[in-house]
Amino acid sequence: MPLPKAELHLHIEGTLEPELAFALAARNEVALPYADTDELREAYRFEDLQSFLNLYYELMAVLRTERDFEDLADAYLARAAAQGVRHAEIFFDPQAHIARGVAMGTVVEGLWRALARSEDTYGVSTQLIMCFLRDESAESARETLEAAKPYLDRIVGVGLDSAEVGHPPAKFREVYQAAAGLGLRRVAHAGEEGPPSYIVEALDVLGVERVDHGLRCMEDEALVERLVRERVPLTLCPLSNVRLRAVDALADHPLPAMLDAGLLCTVNSDDPAYFGGYAGDNFDAVRSTLGLGEERLRELARNSFLASFLEHDEERRARYLAEVEAYEFG
Ligand SMILES: [Zn+2]
Repeated sequence: MPLPKAELHLHIEGTLEPELAFALAARNEVALPYADTDELREAYRFEDLQSFLNLYYELMAVLRTERDFEDLADAYLARAAAQGVRHAEIFFDPQAHIARGVAMGTVVEGLWRALARSEDTYGVSTQLIMCFLRDESAESARETLEAAKPYLDRIVGVGLDSAEVGHPPAKFREVYQAAAGLGLRRVAHAGEEGPPSYIVEALDVLGVERVDHGLRCMEDEALVERLVRERVPLTLCPLSNVRLRAVDALADHPLPAMLDAGLLCTVNSDDPAYFGGYAGDNFDAVRSTLGLGEERLRELARNSFLASFLEHDEERRARYLAEVEAYEFG
């Protein structure tokens, strides 16, 4: 039995495995420029951020209907459950779909169909976080928030993702203010490839409660002290960091130093179909490569539930935390 954990940094579009991509392409009569799943899997071995993003957006063309989004989310939840995920806070990128003529309602309703039965089917509770693409305009983010208004009972918060450098958090000050006014929780990618100052800006200007990635905080001692003092959770994605060259090799990952510094770190999968593994795979990798002991792994699992947006259901959080404490490593 795998260690129980929450997944807090997971892009649902990044869970599209080659087999499902081909199945959806056939169903929707979308031509993919790959002969078969083997050739597509080969393309998943991209070499940098841009080649990843190109493939990522290219494959989204197969997602057209509610049923497609339902199948995508269902496939993720099945895999996540098998790796010990008990609670998932799932990102989606509406702008990437709206730009292709797929409506917000199609995306949210489709994902929701899978999420609504996830607890019964897989024993995984879920929440949805809507991300703005930071390389699109602030105006586009504002329009996206507007389009989401009929679905806010299904969305717990907003996030900020895609290419970080050159798109500082402050660009989205107004839309985050509006989101807060609507009662939405706030997170943002910051300090993955962007500088530590982006983390400070995400906290001070956007009012984020959790920082996605954030590993470059280690370059700024005062910032580390602040993150520790304010108990700001960081959602780290070790295998993603290796594939996108945020670190040279997993053995160089700052996770052990971050835990030693007292940071509230969590381990997540980001875009697991592309980056070589789901949540449990990331735990296994840091265990074997970084030599984290059982108490460190338990701390990471505990942190994931402490950092979850479960304030509406503290009983559930307590139950999950009790599972972590009772877990016996094999
Ligand atoms: Zn991400």
